[in-house]
Amino acid sequence: MWVIMKKLIITLAAAVLLSACSVDIPFINEKPLEKAEKNPQLAERNEQTKENYASNAKGEEESSLALEAAYFNAIKEVNGIKEIVNATNTLALVNKEFALPGSYIPDDLVRPKVPFSFGNQDIEKSYLRKEAGSALEKMFSAAKESNIHLFAVSGYRSYARQESILNNEIGKVGEEEALQAVAFPGKSEHQTGLAMDISSESVQYLLVEEFEDTDEGKWLKENAHRFGFILRYPKDKEKITGYQFEPWHFRYVGEKNAQIMYKNGWTLEEFFQEVRKL
Ligand SMILES: [Zn+2]
Repeated sequence: MWVIMKKLIITLAAAVLLSACSVDIPFINEKPLEKAEKNPQLAERNEQTKENYASNAKGEEESSLALEAAYFNAIKEVNGIKEIVNATNTLALVNKEFALPGSYIPDDLVRPKVPFSFGNQDIEKSYLRKEAGSALEKMFSAAKESNIHLFAVSGYRSYARQESILNNEIGKVGEEEALQAVAFPGKSEHQTGLAMDISSESVQYLLVEEFEDTDEGKWLKENAHRFGFILRYPKDKEKITGYQFEPWHFRYVGEKNAQIMYKNGWTLEEFFQEVRKL
């Protein structure tokens, strides 16, 4: 009996270790989703949801749904890649279609005063742009007041680091499979310095789908917009965002915009479809 127990403990420990590795290789969970294309049910659901949002949009928000042109991506095509020229825009839409230039490094990166899953290490991924950083601090302290203990896991990621993560993965599993799991350099939202992956002790600070069912995950889903953050890759929006559901990935877009997106159930992609350019 004890031998079986021991075996079980070893197996469990190994499983935890394997998962923990993915924390250090962010985006390993952020796989491009091609399933939706092949899943007519999901596609249909997306269509229905879209219709609902379209009718919602005709409500009271309509008059305020307009933004200065500076908040829209300005694009130039470089070697077939749609590159974002106005990369400092806090509403920059970075996804599988639009990339940040390799040279873009935000010039206002700060280390927010929040608990990190890796403690006090002063490393690249603990940084965010100033505005996003102070919003994150406010969000974490409001959460704490409600007895919700959040941990920041991964924020800013440079183009160079994204490139090395991808190359590392190509070395391990080959190019085709690597590109399924790791974002192409420039196409990771973490390069904006406006996105933070958040987790909790109850899921061992991992970036896993189970985070959705934790008190922390639920609190974030319902409250992040009050501080200017959106759940960037929601469930059932895979076809629109190009990424699987990620209950841990939050993107700063400013309070007003986050409220609008939350209220209408829009992703950042849908927001830009609905909003008028001034
Ligand atoms: Zn992320």
